[in-house]
Amino acid sequence: MMKEEQVLLIEDEEIICSFISSVLLSYDYKVMISKNGREGLTIAASYCPNIILLDLELSDIDGIEVLKNLREWSNIPVIILSSYHEEKAKVLDLGADDYIIKPFETLELLTRIRTVLRNSRKTEKHKNFSAKGLFIDFDNNVVTVDKVVIHLTQTEFKIVSLLAQNAGKVMPYDKIIKEIWDLEGNTNNRILRVNMVSIRRKLERNSADPQYIFTETGIGYRMIEEDKHII
Ligand code: CA
Repeated sequence: MMKEEQVLLIEDEEIICSFISSVLLSYDYKVMISKNGREGLTIAASYCPNIILLDLELSDIDGIEVLKNLREWSNIPVIILSSYHEEKAKVLDLGADDYIIKPFETLELLTRIRTVLRNSRKTEKHKNFSAKGLFIDFDNNVVTVDKVVIHLTQTEFKIVSLLAQNAGKVMPYDKIIKEIWDLEGNTNNRILRVNMVSIRRKLERNSADPQYIFTETGIGYRMIEEDKHII
């Protein structure tokens, strides 16, 4: 490991806290623990950890509220820890980076942490994107069209960013689905199509005749190429 990564664990169950922190410490992570949501947010703001492991069932405020609050001001990667499947789609849409069901294996947790950290480093490197009035600030999750802010959900933003980072190339449906939802194989495209309808409604002047994101029928989507900088 290049340097010690700092992990903030927001979890109210003593046993889980000591289990996770001993595992992480043995793998050279630095660990901070908060037993409740409010304190967790304060620690996140003060120390800006590299990653947050957030229990969804906290005793003071709901983990979902913690996530919502966090996403108003920060892109710190978050992995949700929960005993239930039910909230998965919802929290991913609210900007969580991954979701892990309790009880989980040590190796599973470590793999997920590494993947999320690697992905977050990848997106940090991108510059802003600009094409025909569409502007994307990747670091701050801001999209504007003709300088008007477009309100995208986290999932929509991830799709638009992925396409923009591959502008000019066709991104196949299954590749997008793999990147955004981590689903593989013969999944149907419905979830992606639903999001695209919403993205186009927000982004395009006329969603029937898009000027930014094009459909390559039966293959995938393609983002318009970036403006060349004219000197
Ligand atoms: Ca709990």
